[in-house]
Amino acid sequence: MPVGDIGKPLGRGQYWAKRVLFASTGTSNATSWVVLAVALTGCWLLGHLLGGAGRVAPHWFYLPVIFAGVRFGPGAAFVTGVFAGVLAGPLMPLDVADGVPQTVPDWATRLAFFVLIGQVVAFLVARSHAELAEELRRLRLHEDLRRGLALDEFHLAYQPIVTLGTGEIVGAEALLRWTQPDGSSVCPSTFVPVAEDSGLIVPIGAWVLREACGQASAWSRSLPPERDFKISVNVSALQLADPDLPKHVQAALVESGLRPSVLTLEVTETALIVDIEQSVAALVALKAIGVGLAIDDFGTGQSSLAYAHRFPVDVIKVDQSFVARIETDTASAAITASVIGLAHGLGMQALAEGIETAGQLALLRSMGCDLGQGYYFDRPATPEALSERLALASVG
Ligand code: C2E
Ligand code: MG
Ligand code: MG
Repeated sequence: MPVGDIGKPLGRGQYWAKRVLFASTGTSNATSWVVLAVALTGCWLLGHLLGGAGRVAPHWFYLPVIFAGVRFGPGAAFVTGVFAGVLAGPLMPLDVADGVPQTVPDWATRLAFFVLIGQVVAFLVARSHAELAEELRRLRLHEDLRRGLALDEFHLAYQPIVTLGTGEIVGAEALLRWTQPDGSSVCPSTFVPVAEDSGLIVPIGAWVLREACGQASAWSRSLPPERDFKISVNVSALQLADPDLPKHVQAALVESGLRPSVLTLEVTETALIVDIEQSVAALVALKAIGVGLAIDDFGTGQSSLAYAHRFPVDVIKVDQSFVARIETDTASAAITASVIGLAHGLGMQALAEGIETAGQLALLRSMGCDLGQGYYFDRPATPEALSERLALASVG
């Protein structure tokens, strides 16, 4: 399925400029040591070819010293500085043809400068090393994301949502998956933030909507009419701020023939509280289409209680970090119970995420939680696997 406009390659110039400046991050340790050895030998040969240290001062030795400082830090810069000092000193005569040696103070001073500059560079770079590496990683991931979109490397997995009372599957959450050409997968918590920063989440999100609605429409047609089944799709902060989101949603519904009430859009609490007024307006516009709305990862934001009543949502999803500790930590259990109470008090349903054990399920049931999802029931799976589960459940 085409994904729409994925924009121009972003930051290519910037990427390569940084790559050259910071060549070290992309090369393995072994390669970098070989580069250093070759550079030092090359510098020594150059000095000899130019006639010796008396004809021209061998300042080019600073290059391998700086490289060692950037690539490996102060230790390697020190060793390289000493090597450079010896190669450019006792091992390089003043005049190669006559074999006149350099004076000790001359070459020793140069050696001291090589070591000093190496240490200064290593010190300056150490502070921005992690930052540059992270920026480079994100730029590379961004380029890979664009390629992934163009080459159709994305697909959706579906995790069942069940009624806690009966265990019946009443819906599924569509979760984005990315498998790269070498077969490795990148998890959404790694690539979704990069897609958000670069704006690529907008075309990706539009694709997810169309794909999930198409699949849900097929499920709705295959299930008995009285069977309640909803599909949940995650929507990022950037998508929510996009004035075209209602249009994308409408288009996906029309294209798939899905009834609006079958679709639930999930927005994280953190995304909602970035700009409360704008979020309320966006949610009202989506509500007008007739789709359901859910607050995802509830409890991880900072002002949950103060604003929950302002959002016209149908479901509050208790964040899985609370569910994970519900059996062992009284505070997490108390927070979970309060969130369930809050949801009911506001006329919404409560859904617990990340249920992994029978003990967690029992506690959540006793707290009156309506819905749940988690590995205890099912892991996110292919649409075919969920079709089988739904068919079995319908027969049962
Ligand atoms: P989320 O929307 O809160 O989705 C639930 C996450 O919890 C999923 O991780 C799911 O695989 C995982 N999970 C489900 N049950 C369990 C369990 O019992 N134990 C544990 N430990 N984890 C469980 P996933 O698929 O890695 O997605 C992570 C997040 O990435 C999602 O959190 C959502 O915020 C984001 N995401 C995924 N797909 C999309 C998408 O299509 N669009 C956008 N904007 N965000 C997405
Ligand atoms: Mg979600
Ligand atoms: Mg969640």
